[in-house]
Amino acid sequence: MKPKNKFQMQVLAASRILPPVTEAQTEWAYRNCMQHTGRRTAKGIVSCLECGHEWTDRTVEKQCACPHCGTKLTIADTRKQVFRQNEYFCIITVCEGFQVLRFFYLQSYAKAGEKVRYFHSEVVQRWIAGNGKHVTVAKLRPMGYFVDTWTFSSTLEIRPEKPLYNIIPTSVYPRQRLIPELGRSGYEKQLYGLSPFDLFHALLSDSRAETLLKAGQTDLLKFFAGNGFNRIDNYWASIRICIRNGYIVDDASLWRDYIDLLRFFGKDLHSAKYVCPADLNAEHDRYVKKKREWQENERREQARKKALEDETIYKEMKSNFFGIQFSDGRINVRVLESVEEIMQEGDAMHTCVFTNEYHLKPDSLILSACMDGQRLETVEFSLFKMQVVQCKGHCNQNSEYHDQIINLVKKNSRLFEKQITA
Ligand SMILES: [Zn+2]
Repeated sequence: MKPKNKFQMQVLAASRILPPVTEAQTEWAYRNCMQHTGRRTAKGIVSCLECGHEWTDRTVEKQCACPHCGTKLTIADTRKQVFRQNEYFCIITVCEGFQVLRFFYLQSYAKAGEKVRYFHSEVVQRWIAGNGKHVTVAKLRPMGYFVDTWTFSSTLEIRPEKPLYNIIPTSVYPRQRLIPELGRSGYEKQLYGLSPFDLFHALLSDSRAETLLKAGQTDLLKFFAGNGFNRIDNYWASIRICIRNGYIVDDASLWRDYIDLLRFFGKDLHSAKYVCPADLNAEHDRYVKKKREWQENERREQARKKALEDETIYKEMKSNFFGIQFSDGRINVRVLESVEEIMQEGDAMHTCVFTNEYHLKPDSLILSACMDGQRLETVEFSLFKMQVVQCKGHCNQNSEYHDQIINLVKKNSRLFEKQITA
């Protein structure tokens, strides 16, 4: 990508004059980023995978030094012949007033009995100005499922920002050069599990990052620098209370969750009493429980509201039919006159007449057939078809009066017809 503005042109020009990585630096990287292995066979022959020297060792030691090259080796008891490794190494330096993070891809290819072959390639440079403005210069990395697919022959060019350039290196070269803004930020060569870019960018672009670092609130720094630093806005007032009270947040993710709960319950987020709990875990759990109870109440309240609304709808749709009842002398049938009544009918008969909301269908009329005050069956009558569509006794079983009930409703269906035309 060609530089698009003055800032990018400045960076690209500076990038061209960066000195090449020195042999001392790559030697250090190979020694400190890579694992050094002594491969031991079942017969006790050890191959130093650094220099290729082989000797016999009948101990069960897991660590040793190669008698030839002196490299400290970790013993691997394996029949494996070829060992490959890929790592990233970072050099932190300064160029033309920019803070520069140089990332090198390191590769080793070792085969038992041979001298190791190393390869390195500078793949990414992150350039950050003193105000946090930044640009990435990188080699091409075709997108794919495989992690390490840099095109080493491509040139270091300005590239659009992508998460794949946000590398957490295996090691950082110990001699670091810092721009003055970073030098006074409280940075002391510790990354707190962050990528160097996330840490530096936060420190240079937002003074609150520096405040956190100097106050020893490194978990908060890690959490917010790693998740978009501006998200701290909603918590900053409470964080200041923590800092003022010397309260160190050890688990920023839990603490943030807890603050959200306090906020939900309208607690004072400027009060140390709330934001600096002695036992964060216990307080967090207490509020989680409280919120669950609140949600449960809310659910019940919603259900109650819906029942009331349903009652209104039911009355509007069906009140024409209220009061209709008929009997053959033994069996009494009557229209159920409220959602409440239908619910009771469903509960008593163990049927789904209420849960399936038949009462909300404009077409359905729900009737109850009883004898001597005992429920026999629940009837669903279709006002469109003018016929019984369902007639169910206890637990959806037909009662012995099933046919009689259906006939009785049929005989009286003119009562419904009259109400429709009324
Ligand atoms: Zn060796």
